[in-house]
Amino acid sequence: MSEPHDPHQGWREKTAQPKGRYCPDCGGALFFDYRGGERRPLCPACGFVRYRNPAVGVATIIRDPQGRVLLGRRAHGDYAGHWCIPCGYVEWDEDIRVAAVRECAEETGLQVELGPVIAVHSNFHNRDKQTVGVWFVANVVGGAVHPMDGEFTELGWFAPGQPPSPLAFPTDFLVLDQLATEAGPPR
Ligand SMILES: [Zn+2]
Repeated sequence: MSEPHDPHQGWREKTAQPKGRYCPDCGGALFFDYRGGERRPLCPACGFVRYRNPAVGVATIIRDPQGRVLLGRRAHGDYAGHWCIPCGYVEWDEDIRVAAVRECAEETGLQVELGPVIAVHSNFHNRDKQTVGVWFVANVVGGAVHPMDGEFTELGWFAPGQPPSPLAFPTDFLVLDQLATEAGPPR
């Protein structure tokens, strides 16, 4: 496929272009222009604008009677071998609370009922894959702790003030620190 003529070529090359130079809707060339106060790739042929928005992550805080928190050691990816609170992404068409219960079951083997949200943070540790994380209290109603789905190599209980090292995500550290300064496990 030959490349269409692009009068904005020079301008584009000076701009940090997200991956993909063609419109995902009609295949036309994307140009940069201002929409909503930001320069964004847009398609003059069909009006498509590429907005970049963070994905939504969910995490579940499960505590034992001593108040220790269940953490998993990640099996894959950039943070393999690092510890985190069980977490995952909300799928398209999926309710956020359904996603939290599902991710927890997939990663830990535990069936949980969700309690309150105890923290919400923006995650910028990966600039190219930004998320907003929501941490729920989760109460165990069934199952047994067992790494499922190959996401974790092991699971363990840790006092929130003495987390294992290294932790994968800075915001998990914030949440554990918050738990360590609160009195007892939230119910
Ligand atoms: Zn288009």
